[in-house]
Amino acid sequence: MATPPDPPIPEPPARVLDQRLDALARQPFRAKFHLRGRDRATAELGGPATMRRHAHDLIAKRLAPAEPYKDGRQTPYRGHPVFVAQHATATCCRGCLQRWHRIPKGRELSRAERAYVVAVICRWIERELTG
Ligand SMILES: [Zn+2]
Repeated sequence: MATPPDPPIPEPPARVLDQRLDALARQPFRAKFHLRGRDRATAELGGPATMRRHAHDLIAKRLAPAEPYKDGRQTPYRGHPVFVAQHATATCCRGCLQRWHRIPKGRELSRAERAYVVAVICRWIERELTG
C-alpha cells in the first residue's frame, strides 16, 4: 500500500504575514529589495503556484538543513524572484531566520517552519506584483 501524502499545513493568515512584512519593510536594508527586470518578469509569467513550488524547492535545499551549505552566503541577490524575496523578508539564511523570525539555527526546519517561510516569501512576491 502506498503511503498517503502528508496533509497540507495551514499557512498563517495574510493579516499576520502582512504585519511581519510591514515590520521588515521598516528596516532600511530589507526595504531596498524589489522585484525588477528579469526577476519580476519570471514572477509575473510563472504565476503564484509556480513561485510557491520554486520557493518550497529552494527552501528545502538551501535553508532547511540543520547546517545549510555556505550558510550566510547561500542566497544570491538576483537570478530568481524567490532569492530577492528572501533578502527582503530576512529568510535568506539561518542567522537572519533566527534573528528576525525566532527560528533557531542548528537543526533542520520542521514542515510547519518551511511552510511558514514559503508563505512569507510568496506573500512578499504577491505584494510586490500588486502593490
Ligand atoms: Zn541572511
